[in-house]
Amino acid sequence: MYEIKSTKQLRQLMKDYFVNLENAGKIAWCTSVGPAELLRSFGFEVYFPENHGALMGTTRVAGDFIPATINLGYSGDICSYLTSDIGAYLNKKTPLQNHYGLKGIPKPDLIVYNTNQCREVQDWFTFFAKEFNCPAIGIFPPRHIDEITETEIADVSNQFKAMIPICEKASGQSFDIDRFRETLRLSREATDLWKGVLATAKHSPAPLSFFDGTIHMGPIVVLRGTQIAKDYYQALLDELSGYVATNTGVVKNEQSRLYWDGMPIWGKLRTLSDLFIQNNSVVVASTYCNSWVFDAFDEKNPFESSAKAYTEIFINRSENAKMKMLKQMADDFRVDGIIFHDAKTCFNNSNARFGMPLRFYKEYGIPVLVIEGDLCDLRFYSEGQTTTKIETFIEQLVSQKSIHT
Ligand code: SF4
Repeated sequence: MYEIKSTKQLRQLMKDYFVNLENAGKIAWCTSVGPAELLRSFGFEVYFPENHGALMGTTRVAGDFIPATINLGYSGDICSYLTSDIGAYLNKKTPLQNHYGLKGIPKPDLIVYNTNQCREVQDWFTFFAKEFNCPAIGIFPPRHIDEITETEIADVSNQFKAMIPICEKASGQSFDIDRFRETLRLSREATDLWKGVLATAKHSPAPLSFFDGTIHMGPIVVLRGTQIAKDYYQALLDELSGYVATNTGVVKNEQSRLYWDGMPIWGKLRTLSDLFIQNNSVVVASTYCNSWVFDAFDEKNPFESSAKAYTEIFINRSENAKMKMLKQMADDFRVDGIIFHDAKTCFNNSNARFGMPLRFYKEYGIPVLVIEGDLCDLRFYSEGQTTTKIETFIEQLVSQKSIHT
């Protein structure tokens, strides 16, 4: 059976990361596409509540915690990372206890969020800032942009610079531009390697699927800016390049290659991965895994380049820009169809609600499928319906290909 051997190293690395948080000096909480490099340059260990949300999704405990947040007056329809994370805190429970032996979630000395992905993070992170009585910094970039302008980069860059005195106070360390440059360089090198890892799936048979990617992306989210992340992605890239050279793939005979847009369904990764394999198909690329590729990072201009990188991410773009980016990915990875996951509690990262899939199909002729589900809240997911939809879609793609060959 096909197996990525680096997974063992990944598990150890993630365990070390979490255990280290318990023994860390100063801790900053940060959104997943927030300015982690700047925080690390002050010596903070960085903790990502969204990663915790994903962990509650994969371990399928999110549903146990969401009701406590609803009881606090939050709607059950809003971000299920938020509702499960706050609910876990209210219940004084976390999968970090069982999985990594931690006492609980790490206590923040500073909380930083960037609304480049959604406004929900502001509500979520300020809830915890009040609970822990700790300073919170918000970065508010322009939203839903077509092309990012110099003025917009300057604005976000200035917001990053305004963080410095607050970071200095919370960390007890003075800002060091060289340390920031070095962290950004490491982050850039790791993100380049991560991009290379994802690009191995351009090969057919693809040695990596979207579902593998969602697991192996852990270090680029939580450890970017460290040598550890860089070394890990070098090892993973070496392994996958070996599989490319020997034509070893997730499935031997790829009958269809697909693209996944939107959030993962964390509690169903294995089931969905198996479903595609059983149908000799591979999800070879995704918006989600690609969201941690930051081409703009440049240590020579650390503030401007990180402001650009974190503002031009897919989720923060106009429909026009998203359509072009999707088309580019579809071409690069030679996909036969695109699956749009309409995550019911995250409209920010769901592109199926305003008619884009149909417009995309009409414009580019690439078949599309919309499935309904959620990142963590499995009440919004129907296994039977989703399986039928995906299998029917694959059948159609395969029969269309056989007509055209
Ligand atoms: S982008 Fe979606 S899933 Fe992520 S924090 Fe915002 S609402 Fe939640």
